Amino acid sequence: MLIDTHAHLNDARFDEDREAVIDRALASGVGTLVEIADAPADWGRAKALCRLRPGRVYCTLGLHPYHAAQWRPGLEAELLAAMAPEVVAVGEVGLDYARCSVPRPVQLEAFRGMLAAAKAADRPVVVHCRDAFADLLPVLRERYGGKSPARRYHGVVHCFSGTEDEAKECAALGFALGADGPVTYPKNEPLRRALVAAGLSAVVLETDSPYLPPQSKRGKRCEPADVAAVAARLAEAFGVDAEALAAATTANARSLYGLPV
Ligand SMILES: [Zn+2]
Ligand SMILES: [Zn+2]
Repeated sequence: MLIDTHAHLNDARFDEDREAVIDRALASGVGTLVEIADAPADWGRAKALCRLRPGRVYCTLGLHPYHAAQWRPGLEAELLAAMAPEVVAVGEVGLDYARCSVPRPVQLEAFRGMLAAAKAADRPVVVHCRDAFADLLPVLRERYGGKSPARRYHGVVHCFSGTEDEAKECAALGFALGADGPVTYPKNEPLRRALVAAGLSAVVLETDSPYLPPQSKRGKRCEPADVAAVAARLAEAFGVDAEALAAATTANARSLYGLPV
């Protein structure tokens, strides 16, 4: 049994076959999937998606760096009001210096504000970091350094794309690392090495559907069932069999989000 810890099934690319995609994932051995809402306008739809398959689909409510300009102090109260049992984390939140047009100081203020809101909501955080570890790590150190998480992790650095040292530091700060399609790309040996260096106890699986398809589906829409391709390539990288990889990452994901066993 695998868990897809990060998908965007409310994306328009799933409008034609959303429920079939969920059922295909569940039938293929994905026991649980977590829908990520990137902006307040999407929070209600994320919770509605959970109600389609209660106990199998959970969600997180966030403010992606692309939408960081929407940050305002009142958003914390709105987030607290939106909390529900199926909301297992706050995110994604974070910093994107690769493709995002929102100015960096605005992103940083929104990121810090949402981390505080996550604490108020008593939820772990789903962190997005693209070409921004130099600014991200000081924020994580300041807020989480030396503090034990309420559960096993403070959160996850999803779609981890950093170096071996950054992987080890995120894990040491109490963060899981999300592995998705890019770990299957032949040229990404440094990424696989970074995840192996952080250790299997830090890794969770994700797809970031409809983005980041595995190598076998390059250029196509990614969906939660594709998490199996990520798991297979990671098992090879860690030198463990498929069952051991599945058991470890599923246990990690349950601890991360506090999912029932
Ligand atoms: Zn992201
Ligand atoms: Zn995402």
